[in-house]
Amino acid sequence: MTTENVIEIRDLHKSYGSLEVIKGVDIAAPAGHVVSLIGSSGSGKSTLLRCANLLEDSQSGEVLFCGEPVTWKGEGHNRRPADQKQIIRIRTNLSMVFQQFNLWAHMTILQNVMEAPVTVLGRSKAEVEQKAREYLTKVGIGDKCDVYPAQLSGGQQQRAAIARALCMEPKALLFDEPTSALDPELEQEVVKVIKDLAAEGRTMLIVTHDMRMAADVSDHVVFLHQGRIEEQGDPETLFKNPQTERLQGFLSATQ
Ligand code: ADP
Ligand code: MG
Repeated sequence: MTTENVIEIRDLHKSYGSLEVIKGVDIAAPAGHVVSLIGSSGSGKSTLLRCANLLEDSQSGEVLFCGEPVTWKGEGHNRRPADQKQIIRIRTNLSMVFQQFNLWAHMTILQNVMEAPVTVLGRSKAEVEQKAREYLTKVGIGDKCDVYPAQLSGGQQQRAAIARALCMEPKALLFDEPTSALDPELEQEVVKVIKDLAAEGRTMLIVTHDMRMAADVSDHVVFLHQGRIEEQGDPETLFKNPQTERLQGFLSATQ
């Protein structure tokens, strides 16, 4: 039996107006695997993540969630997902963690974590509160339930954002540069949480500039260059023995 792909993208093309930024990309995140996306700024990493959870439209190619293809209506720049229920199912099952945390400033940490499971999934408050406290404890900030985001360090805020993503109990977690807004000393506390999640066998698609983390946690690494996959492989081979000049150049510039 082959492992199920929680996320699969086939020959995806995406343009902003006349600017094509994703030029025929195939990528998959099999259940229980961690796939990291690396590449220079502007290479299309964020766009690809956002196309995977349908935060962005794409002009052609397929997007599949757990083997289920997205159904589209329209063509080219008018192509949109056709089925509202499917969009919600996919978005709620692919929880995203952003570079800038995106916590709601007017809500406590506990309220932030509880919000989507209660309002989007319709779960009972009591059940969600218990889970929210468990996930906040898991990421090491169980004592911060009642404070507001501004009272936390960046590393604590990002850990709260990870607890919020986990509380949706998604099929996969999508991270978009989760440590790049953090000071180096705070970066490691977030890296540790991501490592723990990888060790638990969570399915994750991670955009990162942190090559050490990518090497440590990934089953597969994809190097994107100007909207195309330039090189990919297991981290051991890719980082130790890059084949293309572009990846060699990229890696030596990020050392
Ligand atoms: P990365 O995450 O690898 O830095 P992005 O996916 O953010 O790259 O961007 C890929 C390309 O798409 C860049 O050229 C960027 O300027 C362009 N781009 C991203 N978002 C938009 C947008 N909303 N409108 C127009 N162009 C965009
Ligand atoms: Mg980006």
